[in-house]
Amino acid sequence: MNSRYEVVIGLEVHVQLTTKTKIFCGCSKDFGQSPNSQTCPVCLGLPGALPVLSRQVVDDAIKAGLATNCQIAPHSIFARKNYFYPDLPKGYQISQFELPICEHGWLDIETEDSGKKRLGITRIHMEEDAGKLTHNDGNSSSVDLNRACTPLLEVVSEPDMRSSDEAIAYLKQLHQIVVYLGICDGNLDEGSFRCDANVSIRPWGQEELGTRAELKNLNSFRFIKQAIEYEVERQIDVIDAGEQVVQETRLFDPDAGVSRSMRGKEEAHDYRYFPDPDLLPLEVSEQWVEEVRQKLPELPAIKKLRYQEQFGLPEYDAGVIVAERALAEYFEALVAKHDNPKICANWVMGEVLSALKDSDLTISECPVTPELLAGILFRISDNTISGKIAKTVFTEVWQSGKTADEVIEAKGLKQVTDTGAIEAIIDEIIAANPNQAAEYRGGKEKMMGYFVGQVMKASKGKANPGMANQLLKKKLAE
Ligand code: ADP
Ligand code: MG
Ligand code: ZN
Repeated sequence: MNSRYEVVIGLEVHVQLTTKTKIFCGCSKDFGQSPNSQTCPVCLGLPGALPVLSRQVVDDAIKAGLATNCQIAPHSIFARKNYFYPDLPKGYQISQFELPICEHGWLDIETEDSGKKRLGITRIHMEEDAGKLTHNDGNSSSVDLNRACTPLLEVVSEPDMRSSDEAIAYLKQLHQIVVYLGICDGNLDEGSFRCDANVSIRPWGQEELGTRAELKNLNSFRFIKQAIEYEVERQIDVIDAGEQVVQETRLFDPDAGVSRSMRGKEEAHDYRYFPDPDLLPLEVSEQWVEEVRQKLPELPAIKKLRYQEQFGLPEYDAGVIVAERALAEYFEALVAKHDNPKICANWVMGEVLSALKDSDLTISECPVTPELLAGILFRISDNTISGKIAKTVFTEVWQSGKTADEVIEAKGLKQVTDTGAIEAIIDEIIAANPNQAAEYRGGKEKMMGYFVGQVMKASKGKANPGMANQLLKKKLAE
């Protein structure tokens, strides 16, 4: 944190919706099709073609609004945002300006430095995406209008964030929400969740906002954090050099870790917004909002509290598990079979997540299903295998798709619970370690750990640790 300046950040996020069709026509928005094959007179912007608003897009906007505590406007309108660019044949983008569908929302975030904090959401509006330009060698460019008219929600925050950490916490939460709602695939790489960060600084205590720069091309959480931090330092340097920050749009270059000016205020667009006469004002009844509300899934923040209450999980565990909807579903399928939620949580957060990470798989692709994992956990609770051996069994189940019982049988991993067999091992170990045995007998109780370790080692992890402990105590007392 800087001692002289306060950082102010406001974020604009574009959320690409997962609807089957485009926002104002029935064209499919399948990715990767041949250029201009997913088009019609409406999304090509041919004169006289009339847009028809997709009901699904409105449903999704209402979902996003409700999940971020917005008020849903009973009456909202579409506007034309006018500018010329070859990827926008109409010469305007249909968006919302005055009277967007959602306003006055908020999200609660938590960061290490500033604790819990409520951040305002100014508005969420619906709009269409533009096409895609490819610059060829030489002097020509190709335009592909498959993406034109793809539905987007733009979520605009208040300038309420005071650090890059707060900005990231807000973004991660918003990201989690739209993915939970099933309205966005959340892919930052592919641009399904795009963020512009507005950054300014001001002397502590000053109420008026400083001049901001808008950062673009931020396609990972890491880059966003990096770009904001670079920008704050840059603005401090400008002011310390006695100069003034100018309002501009800057492009972040992740390879160089720096941003460069893209356009200044004088080149800023004057969009001359006006209501689109081709689209009727959108009337959203209370009943419509209620219908959408009924269909909302349980959101991560609520789910997290429920996991703490219903399953007695620590806050940390609950947070890790609800972070992804599919992971939470996996966990719930597991606790439906195995009745110790804490053990289930430990395995999900430990073996499952790390194995997924190592093999670069998502939870929905996890080869150890909740049923298979429950099978392993049962064999721990009934003492067939130790917790340690269970990890070997887990790896085997992962690789072979066999059940825990099949693996234990085939590999002979069953715990040794035969008293005679364990006693025989113990006798050998005590005989081989007379000094340690003497120390233990002389009052050094810590040596017990050493002996248990030796027994486990000699039995290749298969001796029941509880029995080993008990028998060792008895033998060493002799
Ligand atoms: P525009 O549409 O031109 O980008 P807006 O006024 O809609 O401008 O603001 C866009 C975003 O910039 C909002 O998220 C807002 O909170 C943020 N913002 C506005 N002023 C500042 C500032 N001085 N410092 C940081 N963020 C700001
Ligand atoms: Mg902006
Ligand atoms: Zn179309």
